[in-house]
Amino acid sequence: MNKNDLEMLLYGRKQYRSPEYKARHRAMARAKKSAKLDALFGADRRRRAPPFADQSPEAKKARARAAGARWYSENPERWTGYCRKRRVLKLNLPYVEHVTPMPEDGCCPHCRVAMTGQTRKGLSDPNAPIPDHIIPLSKGGHHVPENTMMICNECNTIKGDRPLSYLLKKLGRA
Ligand SMILES: [Zn+2]
Repeated sequence: MNKNDLEMLLYGRKQYRSPEYKARHRAMARAKKSAKLDALFGADRRRRAPPFADQSPEAKKARARAAGARWYSENPERWTGYCRKRRVLKLNLPYVEHVTPMPEDGCCPHCRVAMTGQTRKGLSDPNAPIPDHIIPLSKGGHHVPENTMMICNECNTIKGDRPLSYLLKKLGRA
């Protein structure tokens, strides 16, 4: 129940607060928060300028972008994993956190290419191993160990959101 609902229940209407009342209470809340932070981090915390405080908004934006790009290049699996998880949860499908194992011979089970390289945002190596959903998520497949397998990026691109039989036909293997 939010504040308005509570007030409706208690008073039958939304409480009227004058602008002065609101300003006074906002100031009180600010002071309370400030005192709490002072107790935690010392009263001089405000005088310690945060790093990069002198930078222009553009410079700050560029720095944030660079930091994001750096994080991405250092954590490609975590990024793709994060995107995948979001997609699965948005589709409201079962999701079991797991690491899809590489096949023992390190080769794509479909085209037999040796899987090497990395997946990267925008540009991935064509032979990079990618966890693929055998039944695509968009067709109701679940993100569970039984429904994922490592295949090469190229096969993954061909397969898209189609069933495995489509890929095998394209490769002339079915
Ligand atoms: Zn392949």
